[in-house]
Amino acid sequence: MNASQNMTSAIKPFSSSSFSSSSSRFAKKRTDVKAAAKTFAEAKNYNLTLLPGDGIGPEIMRVAKDVLNEVGRKHAIKFTYEERLVGGAAIDAFGTPLPEDTLECCKRSDAVLLAAIGGYKWDTLAANMRPERGLLGLRAGMEVFANLRPAVVLPQLADASSLKKHIVSGTDIMVVRELTGGIYFGEPKGFGTNKKGEKIGFNTMVYSEPEVDRIAKVAFEIARKRKGRLCSVDKANVLEVSQLWRERVIETHKGYKDVELSHMYIDNCAMQVIRDPKQFDTIVTGNIFGDIISDAASMLTGSIGMLPSAAVGSSGPGLYEPVHGSAPDIAGQDKANPLAQVLSAAMLLRYQFGEEEAAKSIEAAVNATLDQGFRTGDIMQEGMKLVGCTAMQEALMKNLSK
Ligand code: NAD
Repeated sequence: MNASQNMTSAIKPFSSSSFSSSSSRFAKKRTDVKAAAKTFAEAKNYNLTLLPGDGIGPEIMRVAKDVLNEVGRKHAIKFTYEERLVGGAAIDAFGTPLPEDTLECCKRSDAVLLAAIGGYKWDTLAANMRPERGLLGLRAGMEVFANLRPAVVLPQLADASSLKKHIVSGTDIMVVRELTGGIYFGEPKGFGTNKKGEKIGFNTMVYSEPEVDRIAKVAFEIARKRKGRLCSVDKANVLEVSQLWRERVIETHKGYKDVELSHMYIDNCAMQVIRDPKQFDTIVTGNIFGDIISDAASMLTGSIGMLPSAAVGSSGPGLYEPVHGSAPDIAGQDKANPLAQVLSAAMLLRYQFGEEEAAKSIEAAVNATLDQGFRTGDIMQEGMKLVGCTAMQEALMKNLSK
């Protein structure tokens, strides 16, 4: 059996009962490109670039690496790692948030696992020198235009949500956010002076037809493998860019008639996600709307420290990272929840390599650890065992090696 056959058979549809579920046609295409030239034995040796970044990044990356090694041992997968600097750490070492060597290393690897970047230390730097620039440059350089952000409410943590349990229980939303276009990248942008001589700041929200078409296709493919419902979120009542967005989504829908398409304005969507999250299956939206809606959806789950994400393109390595930032307020105190990072590693195994069983092993170990009552501060509940990052890792590793 060659690698491509192996991966294809390993890929299963998105399910409503797991953390992030499985892959889709676009993911198969990505893996198939690389897989075609490899034998099965070679495909079991994966080259990963690790980007620990800043703040709690190195603490949680350490956990994910140990977990990958253990799961590799169990499932006969060998990982080869190259570690590089990005964000504030790269600014300190090289004077730039994204050194060329870091991007090159990411592009030649099979997949990239990122922790988080940023921190107080770099907050006063000019915008183009901030750690966040490193992240934006990485996404653009790797051409990963689709950000997949599952928001699944785990039964063990349904009480941890700030919303009522009966509202959030059973929530399973996949937000597909366009990642490399829209207002974060549009030109012109900058500062200037208006007619009254007042200083102004401005940005441009722009999407081209191909940019909308490719993200719409990804979203339809994912929705098709889930419950078959896609909600496209825009602001077409006010913005021309959203009118184009809606036109292209409707056009793309012609190839996916089995998927039920609806449209919602972003302001209404913000309300609906809080009011009745279970009405959503898959959401597709642009960069800035997706940034906000996926954060709101993530809070339904109780903790940002539990949420993985993936950023993928049409081909090549994807970027797998937790939703949360570098949490500088708790960095170096052994308080970080490593589970979002660990679940990002599970997403990497599933989406990039079709290693479904290995991904499931990780998710089962996370589930077992939560079932045993272990909680970091961010997800602490009455009657549970409060632990730090190290103790959470120990519990996780025990469950993984069972
Ligand atoms: P944040 O996600 O870092 O932290 C928000 C809150 O959640 C904090 O109280 C933090 O302690 C807590 N938290 C986050 N992750 C946690 C974890 N794993 N375990 C326990 N608690 C956790 O967001 P922020 O405070 O807005 O930003 C801090 C820095 O991170 C900023 O410099 C920001 O630019 C950067 N940031 C980076 C990314 C990224 O790398 N993808 C994303 C968001 C923010």
